[in-house]
Amino acid sequence: MSLTKKWPLLGEAKAWLDGDRSLWTLGTGEATRSDRTQRMAPRTEAAQRVSSICPYCAVGCGTNIYVKEGEITAVEGNPDSPINGGTLCPKGSAILDLTVNDQRLTEVLYRRPGGRVWETVSLDWAMERLAQRVKQTRDATMQLHDANGTLIRQCTGIASLGGACLDNEENYLIKKLFTGGMGVVWLENQARI
Ligand code: SF4
Repeated sequence: MSLTKKWPLLGEAKAWLDGDRSLWTLGTGEATRSDRTQRMAPRTEAAQRVSSICPYCAVGCGTNIYVKEGEITAVEGNPDSPINGGTLCPKGSAILDLTVNDQRLTEVLYRRPGGRVWETVSLDWAMERLAQRVKQTRDATMQLHDANGTLIRQCTGIASLGGACLDNEENYLIKKLFTGGMGVVWLENQARI
């Protein structure tokens, strides 16, 4: 390592003698850069960029997700988004932890009625159980006619509450399934994206 790199004062003096005043005016320039900082690169360099939307609220801020070797390495605001112009609020800035997190649940947990512990079950079992419960509830609470005998085919025993991460297409399918397919009338979501 050269002496001007090893001893910053020498580097700064040399920069001054070479006519580089940026260190004193801007705090930048060659004299401020150690070998280590010269080797540093942005964490998004050489990563694949995928555009997405923040899942947390109805503002729908645009994000850029950076992927290296199949792993998400960074999530930043998308500067091309007319909504957020590259910025993210503190919640949106924490999206990386939502995805890359060793505390994230990766298995289906089930607590039986009256049970005190969570059991790990297969996704197939859980989906089958959900389908059974939905069918039972729908059959038990389906109202075919109102008090005047008019055909209404409505199910008031099930409700659906959606979140901000559901997009237009998903909400369309939810509406089709619940209202068109099952007669559910209580549907709410946060569909503003
Ligand atoms: S970044 Fe913040 S304001 Fe934007 S969508 Fe996410 S939670 Fe909402």
